[in-house]
Amino acid sequence: MNIVVLVKQVPDTEAERKLNPADNTVDRASVDPVINYIDEFAIEEGLQLKESQGGEVTIMTVGPERATESIRKALSMGADKAVHVTDEALHGSDAIQTAKVIAKALGTIEWDVVIAGSEATDSRSAIVPALVAEALGAPQLTQARKVTVDGSTVSIERVTDTGYDRVEGSTPAVISVVEKINDPRYPSFKGIMAAKSKPITVLSLAELGLDAGEVGLANAWTQVVSFENAPPRAAGQTVKDEGNGGAAIADYLASKKLI
Ligand SMILES: Cc1cc2nc3c(=O)[nH]c(=O)nc-3n(C[C@H](O)[C@H](O)[C@H](O)COP(=O)(O)OP(=O)(O)OC[C@H]3O[C@@H](n4cnc5c(N)ncnc54)[C@H](O)[C@@H]3O)c2cc1C
Repeated sequence: MNIVVLVKQVPDTEAERKLNPADNTVDRASVDPVINYIDEFAIEEGLQLKESQGGEVTIMTVGPERATESIRKALSMGADKAVHVTDEALHGSDAIQTAKVIAKALGTIEWDVVIAGSEATDSRSAIVPALVAEALGAPQLTQARKVTVDGSTVSIERVTDTGYDRVEGSTPAVISVVEKINDPRYPSFKGIMAAKSKPITVLSLAELGLDAGEVGLANAWTQVVSFENAPPRAAGQTVKDEGNGGAAIADYLASKKLI
């Protein structure tokens, strides 16, 4: 089975993240980049599928040159190879353009199943997997907390507000996963060493047959027109308990219409 895992490099969620006032895009230069948190669960699911079904795991990333660091980490977890689409013209691309590029890049390799995270922590549109499936005309099985493959049938447990739905499709299919699905493994020392020599195919837009005019900030379907920093958090209110603490807290909660 040929498994492709979509991995996005994002600014570290622990650091203060900013937009660049010059063009309202994410400031990637001032913050350390990391693998999108949920994508580590997608990688783990890909590796477990490979262990049960055989085959290979390919990491696919659309991102700047620096995204190679995240790709190497994914390879050190146990993935076999990677495809990295990188091009200056991609700067500021939105979800629709990103999905189009991913779908084109998937056309350059053999694949049975694409596994993505359900949401990227930087822009959180949670729509790329569905857009990729649409572009490819493939079934989409999203928000999976469990994935089972039996021959050409893929079944998932899809998380809902009240429990889960069983959803079934046939390969080739696009799946997105939530973090309840597994516990991502840590790269071993052997894995880190092996990752250094695993192949990464680097593709430009031209090599995918895409024109720079189809992507990038100037051609995006969605754009950030303006933004404001969140106001600093106001100081909290201290309630001194002089025998009436419970009532004072109840009054406070009532004043905020919380009770
Ligand atoms: C205000 C703002 C400014 C932005 N500025 C920039 C910018 O300057 N430069 C820039 O590159 N992007 C920028 N983006 C991000 C870009 O628009 C989106 O990251 C991209 O289109 C995908 O949408 P998402 O991150 O919301 O993905 P989601 O739909 O939330 O992601 C779901 C899953 O899809 C997969 N996926 C998503 N993106 C990729 C990818 N690139 N490669 C591989 N797999 C992926 C991952 O598995 C991920 O877990 C900006 C977004 C916003 C909101």
